[in-house]
Amino acid sequence: MIPISKPYIGEEEKKAVLEVMDSGMLVQGPRVAKLEERFAQLCGVKHAIATSSGTTALHVALLANGIGEGDEVITSPFTFIASANSILYAGAKPVFVDVDEETFNLSPALVEKAITPRTKAIMPVHLFGYVCDMDALQAIAEKHGLKIIEDACQAVAASYNGKMAGSFGTAAFSLYATKNIMTGEGGMITTNDDAVADQCRLLRAHGMRRRYYHEQIGYNYRLSDLHAAIGLAQMDRLAGFNEKRKANAAYFNTHIESVAIPKVKAGYDHVWHQYTIRMDGGRDRDAAVKQLTEAGVGTGIFYPVPAHQQDYMREIVGDVSLPVAERIAQEVISLPVHPMLSLDDVGKIVAEVNKL
Ligand SMILES: *Cc1c(COP(=O)(O)O)cnc(C)c1O
Repeated sequence: MIPISKPYIGEEEKKAVLEVMDSGMLVQGPRVAKLEERFAQLCGVKHAIATSSGTTALHVALLANGIGEGDEVITSPFTFIASANSILYAGAKPVFVDVDEETFNLSPALVEKAITPRTKAIMPVHLFGYVCDMDALQAIAEKHGLKIIEDACQAVAASYNGKMAGSFGTAAFSLYATKNIMTGEGGMITTNDDAVADQCRLLRAHGMRRRYYHEQIGYNYRLSDLHAAIGLAQMDRLAGFNEKRKANAAYFNTHIESVAIPKVKAGYDHVWHQYTIRMDGGRDRDAAVKQLTEAGVGTGIFYPVPAHQQDYMREIVGDVSLPVAERIAQEVISLPVHPMLSLDDVGKIVAEVNKL
């Protein structure tokens, strides 16, 4: 079976972890700081703050921007649930707005319509590694005085008109095992705002600047040096990994003929965290998944139920109708596109998909 994802763990990663073990400093040592420095450089921002996961990065990013009780945050329903959950952790209310049929990302025109006096922020999700229409979203945010909290968890090193994901406001990345680069579990916040960065650092470690003096409530959301060591080794591979993903996606784009394939608009540098086809026009997705599985091609459904239709979320946001998200949730199938695929794998995936 060709797996839908496969983390790369090489000699460098193993050696780096053993070095941390030997150093005796397992927690917030020099590697966390180094990984933060490299991330800030990559995104072209002043600050990067490492956290224990993408979810905790989102939570802290919201709190550090003053989002809390009574506030509304506009986000996508077609995402991993952590986007919406982090808004709930902050005490705010997620307001779901429908997505664009082609990009799967927030539709700016609908975002503007959903703004109320309570709206404090927009959380664009750069789904599958495809940056949102940030010109439009930034213009809306500026016009209405809203913060931008990017969910860039799937979009490390993606860009739009030369501007990096993670540079449009405060952003959260995930370093979970299946993401484009990983530390096992881990996350990263990026921002150019000194005050937000300071708050993120405090919130990450129990509000503590001077040892055992706590300026405010905070959390233990730290990343360990063991994880950061893996991350540094992966950082060296990032460009190569993403090139491989792009080459795989380009091959799929030119060779898949049987189903709807993703289209990328000019000016966007997509990093293909997922390559997602659609069984549109009422075609049978379950049958397609079964056929691919039997042929040895792993698949993923990201995501089968939009966030606003999860049972507990319905109780919070009520009955919301978001027809595009609801329809594409029934149609999508993600194919393996990761850098561990061989040329044979890529050819086999195309051949099997073209049999659908
Ligand atoms: C992975 C992911 C997250 C959460 O990251 P974790 O590191 O798993 O906590 C949030 N949003 C999106 C879009 C993701 O893909």
